[in-house]
Amino acid sequence: MSNFVSVTNKHGVAVVTIDNPPVNALSFHVRKPLYEALAALRDDPAAKAIVIACAGRTFVAGADITEFGKPVEQPELRAIIALLETITKPTVAAIHGTALGGGLELALGCHFRVADQGAKLGLPEVKLGLLPGGGGTVRLPRLVGAAKALGMIVSGAPTSASEAKAAGLVDAVSDDELLEEAVRFANEMADRGGPFLPVRDRNDRLAETDLAAFGVQAAELAKKARGLEAPLACAEAVRNAITLPFDEALAAERRLFVKLVSGDQSRAQRHLFFAEREAAKVPGKDLQRRKIARIGIIGAGTMGGGIAMAFANGGFPVTLLETGEEALQRGLAMIDKNYAVSVSRGSLTEGARLQRLALFKGSTDYADLADCDLIIEAVFEDMAVKKEVFGRLDAVAKPDAILATNTSYLDVDAIAASTSRPQDVLGLHFFSPANVMKLLEIVRADKTAPDVLATVTDLARRIGKVAVVVGVCHGFVGNRMLSARGAENEFLLLEGATPDQVDKAFTDFGWPMGPFQMGDLAGLDIGWRNRKARGQTAVIADTLCEEGRFGQKTGRGWYRYESGSREPVADPEVEALIRDKAAELGIDRA
Ligand code: NAD
Repeated sequence: MSNFVSVTNKHGVAVVTIDNPPVNALSFHVRKPLYEALAALRDDPAAKAIVIACAGRTFVAGADITEFGKPVEQPELRAIIALLETITKPTVAAIHGTALGGGLELALGCHFRVADQGAKLGLPEVKLGLLPGGGGTVRLPRLVGAAKALGMIVSGAPTSASEAKAAGLVDAVSDDELLEEAVRFANEMADRGGPFLPVRDRNDRLAETDLAAFGVQAAELAKKARGLEAPLACAEAVRNAITLPFDEALAAERRLFVKLVSGDQSRAQRHLFFAEREAAKVPGKDLQRRKIARIGIIGAGTMGGGIAMAFANGGFPVTLLETGEEALQRGLAMIDKNYAVSVSRGSLTEGARLQRLALFKGSTDYADLADCDLIIEAVFEDMAVKKEVFGRLDAVAKPDAILATNTSYLDVDAIAASTSRPQDVLGLHFFSPANVMKLLEIVRADKTAPDVLATVTDLARRIGKVAVVVGVCHGFVGNRMLSARGAENEFLLLEGATPDQVDKAFTDFGWPMGPFQMGDLAGLDIGWRNRKARGQTAVIADTLCEEGRFGQKTGRGWYRYESGSREPVADPEVEALIRDKAAELGIDRA
């Protein structure tokens, strides 16, 4: 017995309970007593079956990823699963919450799995640049078939209890008392009598595999992987499960895991995972949050419309304010159109579209913002206009309302100073398209109150954004990085490359699009206006803008776009312009 693993006996069934808050990660201090408990129960005549369950809000939600890349203390998960597979009495995993990664692998070591109806099961290791290293790639296909296993392991997406039941991953779904149900199930199995085949010895589903179809599926995934190693290694491991004897496939999985875990890609993806979690931590965990029910948005342009949609998608009613009826209707029509496109693409149901549209209220009267708990300004990037807007807001907003600006570059302290309540003001810098992009910079101004920061950080999570708290400075973090990168990209062109060559280097590296494609998508005029305001220049980009080439919206930018198409086509005119500018500057293009 330990603080982390306890054993009780229910109706002759031993219930092993893991209790390692918050998510029952399989840390060393859990693995050791778990191994010892299972070893003792294996030969204990008082236990006719074993149920592995978890206390708290979830089943084991994964390995302890702080241990990744460090020497593993024995017993490791694979030893626990190997031990489980030597037990001849029925073993049952009772799964609630999320059984992910090492958690699902532990459950795959049991003969049976009973899941709560709300449970989610998956192997998300690929998202950390890894593959499941505890036998998941070799055992999962034996239960659900190679094709389904490949899909689950390469996407890393979890599956619901009912889907898992249909696929053969779980044996029963409980809609009430999970533990009671799992104990009853274990008892029934014990009474029915063995032998019980461990998952490693179940080969019928694998024998059904259509290897040619599997090859096609794996090749498609390889194409989508765009240079990422982990999805390819996942596919290789599942193929091994089909073609090699169990122990050889398991050993091959290990070799692939060891290679990935020490590689740069996984190190980078793990860094990102921790960085995102770290960024979301703000001081004031115990502070009372402000109540946020209705959102006000000022300006229904590109950003205002997108931000409004982000909140409506999160279920919040939104008041959208514009300067006049015409601009308001234009903004609302754009929102309408965006939702209609989602329905036509099948990513939104008609019912959901109507529900979301019902959350919007348009207005041209500042008084209508009086019932909003958070008001976000997304008007022109002009300090005088912003100050005027915040001055008017100060007069109508209720006490304790949070006032935010979506400015890209302006001084949030100066904007806050134009109100009588700078403690309630901060920046919420969304990225375009705001209803899609996950990053949200939360700009903490000089006087922003801690509870305001804590409230919006929570709120960001509720609308599916990854929040990063930043300070007041020109361009915050994201745009400062882009601006340095943009300057270097121009040098690459002047020194010999073409936009599509630079973009290809990025997409070959695994990015969804390159910087010039991205510029055309976002609109080149935004950066141009900003450079002009700061007295800066970019020789090629400025000339493109002077020629009215703003990107996709004008059909021409760094690339040409055939009418209505978003497909970039290399443009000889741009290449000529680059050559001319290089010659003017006396740069030899290599
Ligand atoms: P936009 O020109 O598309 O929209 C601005 C809207 O604000 C217009 O519809 C205008 O009618 C309205 N407006 C102007 N003054 C107003 C007032 N006093 N009251 C109510 N409405 C008013 O501009 P945008 O691209 O949406 O940018 C808005 C803000 O968001 C800017 O501060 C910009 O720097 C910032 N931003 C833009 C992007 C981007 O990629 N476009 C990204 C992040 C942040």
